[in-house]
Amino acid sequence: MSDLELAGVRKTFRPKGRPEVEAVRGFDLSVGGGELVGLLGPSGCGKSTTLRMIAGLEEVTDGDILVGGRSLVGLAPQRRNVGVAFENYALYPPLTVAENLAFGLAARGVGRAERKARVADVAERIGITGILGQRPAGLSSGQKQRVALARAVVRAPDVLLLDEPLSHLDAAQRDVTRRELRHLQRELGYTTILVTHDQEEALSLADRVVVMNDGVVCQVGTPDEIYDDPCGLFVARFVGEPAMNILEGVHDGQGGVRLSGAVTVPVGVPASAGREVLVGVRPEDLAIAENPDTTGIAVVYEDLREYGLVTVELDGVDGRVVVQTEAGRAIAPGDRLPLAFGRERTFLFDKETEERLR
Ligand code: ADP
Ligand code: MG
Repeated sequence: MSDLELAGVRKTFRPKGRPEVEAVRGFDLSVGGGELVGLLGPSGCGKSTTLRMIAGLEEVTDGDILVGGRSLVGLAPQRRNVGVAFENYALYPPLTVAENLAFGLAARGVGRAERKARVADVAERIGITGILGQRPAGLSSGQKQRVALARAVVRAPDVLLLDEPLSHLDAAQRDVTRRELRHLQRELGYTTILVTHDQEEALSLADRVVVMNDGVVCQVGTPDEIYDDPCGLFVARFVGEPAMNILEGVHDGQGGVRLSGAVTVPVGVPASAGREVLVGVRPEDLAIAENPDTTGIAVVYEDLREYGLVTVELDGVDGRVVVQTEAGRAIAPGDRLPLAFGRERTFLFDKETEERLR
């Protein structure tokens, strides 16, 4: 159980004849021993580059990476005890699954008997015992992904780096593997960074989530903190499904925000009168209620069995919101609905900076 620290890590790519890319622009993070951190962000934000720098597959342009207090910078990948499972499995085609798993162990001087025992143990835990004799070419993408995961784990790494490890699994497999992965990681106590663009995956798996955008860390927090207390518009919108509703308005200096029309909704956050803001409210914090703040017309109703979602075109306002309802509500397109905003759970953001107002 080693702790991992990234201090001011930067990466600038300078491809020949093309403009340089600042892929990672100052990454600071301390990961505790045995912790699972989810690195979450949209495609291209610098997640894989960050992992590759920890693994030693990319040089850092600036900053330091420490495991157990020891700097890894300048060490060749094979001299870092880091287990990696990347999206493109990179399994050796001529070797069987068992040989793929044992390969790195042999290179590190682990004896034959122990190699066999470790491979058997990890294969059992990850559910690939039945395919140990097969070659990668014959495997499904889900199986390959499990093998890649097993190969990363089998070497008992100081740090485990997983880049979109569940992306090629179908929905049912992903659900099971996600739970197994978390169990395995806890049981074996690996310090882990798991990269994903899937907010649900990050929130359900990780002890803490790092939200990244455009090479920068936006917020670090527990899944609850990220969901309930986003630091700005980007995190607020990126996390949560269906996404937070965002409405433009002007603060009245008291307890309300006047939306683009004549409608004022209550907010729990003070601001000076006339300040241009964005109001954020999650679908579950809007209610079809008796004392409405405003009304609207139902456009679409989706029955998702556990709950319903209705898209509502607000009256007198240029905007739509998605509202979560209890299951089985009889709502038809064209119905006029009274809507109440949960004042305690309404977020406010500055329209210019997109920072959270509190
Ligand atoms: P993510 O994993 O979050 O999708 P990446 O870390 O792969 O993002 O990429 C971050 C940015 O760096 C992207 O703009 C990508 O095009 C760029 N990039 C990644 N690798 C290279 C490279 N070898 N040369 C030039 N640009 C790169
Ligand atoms: Mg990536």
